[in-house]
Amino acid sequence: MKPKDPPREAAARAAELRRILARHDHLYYNLGAPEISDAEYDGLFRELKELEEKYPSLRTPDSPTQRVGAPLERGAGFATARHRVPMLSIESLFGEGEVREFDARIKRFLSLPPDTPVEYTAEPKYDGVSANLVYEKGLLVQGLTRGDGVQGEVITANLKTIRSIPLRLLEEAGPVPALVEIRGEVLLSKENFRKLQEETATTTARPFRNARNAVAGTLKRLDPAEVAERGLEFISWGVGALEGVSFETYWDLIHQVRKWGFRISPQVRKCSSIEEVISYHHEMEGVREELPYEMDGIVAKVNSLELQARLGRTARSPRWVLAYKFPPRRARSRVKDIVVQVGRVGTLTPVAILEPVDLGGATVQRATLHNEEILRERDVRVGDTVIVERAGDVIPAVVEVVKSERPKGARPFEMPERCPVCGAETLKEGAFYFCTNISCPAQIRARILHMAQRRALDIDRLGPKYVDQLMEAGLLKSPADIFDLPSKKKEILALPRWGKKSFENLVEQIERAKRPTLARFLFALGIRGVGEATARDLAAHFGDLDALAKASVEELQQVEGIGPEVSRSIRTFFDLPENRKFLERLRKAGVRPVSSAPARGPLAGTTWCFTGKLESFTRDRARELVEELGGKTVDSVSKKVTHLVAGPGAGSKLEKARKLGIRILGEEDFLALVKKEGKTL
Ligand SMILES: [Zn+2]
Repeated sequence: MKPKDPPREAAARAAELRRILARHDHLYYNLGAPEISDAEYDGLFRELKELEEKYPSLRTPDSPTQRVGAPLERGAGFATARHRVPMLSIESLFGEGEVREFDARIKRFLSLPPDTPVEYTAEPKYDGVSANLVYEKGLLVQGLTRGDGVQGEVITANLKTIRSIPLRLLEEAGPVPALVEIRGEVLLSKENFRKLQEETATTTARPFRNARNAVAGTLKRLDPAEVAERGLEFISWGVGALEGVSFETYWDLIHQVRKWGFRISPQVRKCSSIEEVISYHHEMEGVREELPYEMDGIVAKVNSLELQARLGRTARSPRWVLAYKFPPRRARSRVKDIVVQVGRVGTLTPVAILEPVDLGGATVQRATLHNEEILRERDVRVGDTVIVERAGDVIPAVVEVVKSERPKGARPFEMPERCPVCGAETLKEGAFYFCTNISCPAQIRARILHMAQRRALDIDRLGPKYVDQLMEAGLLKSPADIFDLPSKKKEILALPRWGKKSFENLVEQIERAKRPTLARFLFALGIRGVGEATARDLAAHFGDLDALAKASVEELQQVEGIGPEVSRSIRTFFDLPENRKFLERLRKAGVRPVSSAPARGPLAGTTWCFTGKLESFTRDRARELVEELGGKTVDSVSKKVTHLVAGPGAGSKLEKARKLGIRILGEEDFLALVKKEGKTL
């Protein structure tokens, strides 16, 4: 059946909604000054979504409902495209002398008297990844990485997920150019980077070294949905090609960019002379720790666009812009020893033990050597004099060896073949070594916490405080000990902060945790590279644990989305005798993962939330049923929720769901639906 053509009013309303939502996105994400409540916003968003569902031809590429697109095919790679105007590099300067010389050179080039001040605009030099956004007649048509400056990779779908990037230039702000390339920096705030580090520490493969690496890695993901989760931001610092409008100064231009719907740095400032640029630099250096993004210096541009045009460019960089870098926080020290630290997922990190040295106000005695590859490349040896650097929030690192001061007989460092803590064999993947032993003491605490967390076995009682306490008391020596806790009533009740009630509560939670879905169970095991999504894919493909445990590397690779690295990691996990013993212990304790239904169940694509009292089953069983039928469950009502099941006593969630127009079901309706699908409670 051909979809109906939308009536004119519907088309006009959809266009109006897109405009309104784009404006509120800008107010919220870029200006930090929302004018409407989240609920009002959600209502408008929903109205647009419903219109588009009714009349699919109204779904335009600039609709806010289209921010997260379909994933790219594995192995397809990104196409490349040329920048209209090349993205040249900026000349880096260190020290006031070089900056004053830059200013003098400009005046000579323009034949200006040396005492004529040139006006500049200055702004922070953010430490992110540069991107180029192409807008045609106001519509975002392409997004590119900087690449080699001449051509970049096409990452439009990933850039579209960034909420501070408008999909269409705001029109009320004045004339929209026929074509404009908006340039800027894709950033991860210090806060979001810290969050990401915590996540990668327990679930996926390798930690990112700094926020910039995390941004670069994220922008190359094939699935825009994953990009959307990372919380990237975009701050514009200029334009490339520009057709149909013109400006006199960079100051006017960048403020027009802001009006078109972008964020610009709140620290952008006009400087009436090069001396003001220098004091701006010192001021920024003083506040850099307090600002939400990493910056490694400032950028100053000649403000007049006419002068910029006259100055032109050299082969490598424009003559009208300078980067005045902050001095790196570096110091010299001596390597007393090199030790290997075992991280939370068993990553072996070589660490240099240093003679104490002051680095930007803090005493540093350890510096990371990252991994074997970098260690080899820099060839750091015990006894070496080294340069240590601390970049922003990141832990200090050894960046250079003073080779001329190397003591005689210093030997290259070798990574241990066995885990220095437990002696298990290590596994090398890429540049990283891992301890493969799930019983490694250095990893146990993290594994227990990982296993007990809500998204895994959901044993609420086993938070960090109690895990530490139980470990200190010798009641938790491995994750499998969790299931012995119910038999340790006397010992536990003797500990502070435990009462009869809280113990019973713990026992109840542990009992329930014995019947996890296979997906949750696999995630709970903390196998390297197996996060929640991969665990679901594996569960759907193999159906039960025994089949998975027997699968060869080749068979594992048959699962969609699972590559050779993760396949090997899974195989290694099940091959290790320690891990087999661990699984056997869980089995003896009565842990029986429930085979999960395929992810494409009848409820695929729906998101459920439960509220109020449920009579015939527990909240957890209800969640599990939804998941077994392919749906998702969440704990709070948002615009993502499609169905709310409300029992007696439902309160604010029900109210919010009504406002958002979410489908509301009673327990009876849910029961009928579940039974229809052949499920029992
Ligand atoms: Zn170990």
